Amino acid sequence: MAELMKLQVICPDRIFYEGEVSMVEFNTTEGEVGIYPKHIPLTSILAPGILTITEEDGLKNAALHSGFVQILPEKVTVMAEAAEWPHEIDLGRAEAARDRAEERIKNRSDKTDIARAETALQRAIARINVIK
Ligand code: ATP
Repeated sequence: MAELMKLQVICPDRIFYEGEVSMVEFNTTEGEVGIYPKHIPLTSILAPGILTITEEDGLKNAALHSGFVQILPEKVTVMAEAAEWPHEIDLGRAEAARDRAEERIKNRSDKTDIARAETALQRAIARINVIK
């Protein structure tokens, strides 16, 4: 039996996930990471991407956006601005958000906030990828 740790994913409006997992993967500002039980204590900053939760009996995927992660040997706590299970994602809305962000990046002017457009694009891509 694989070793387990606690995972809690907290969003402003709900506890998105709480359970015992053998691994969790997510995207950080430093790149994608996979965390197993007994990891050394660490905090990290989330970047939009796919959250993959490995439970004893299978995998769960979700879109996970900006926030912070606290990693302890026995527990990982994620505090995120937003997270969505695949069935909660509105594909049309995500595609419209992607197109809008791409358009802003392509037709940039002095007034364009590129970092904001790029993060919006990352969020939209994460949502699209999690249901494809
Ligand atoms: P949009 O431009 O379409 O609002 P966004 O990336 O700016 O997208 P966020 O600020 O990340 O949206 O999210 C605002 C709220 O709307 C959050 O609760 C988020 O879960 C929800 N949300 C955003 N896009 C979608 C989507 N495509 N499907 C389902 N829920 C979404």
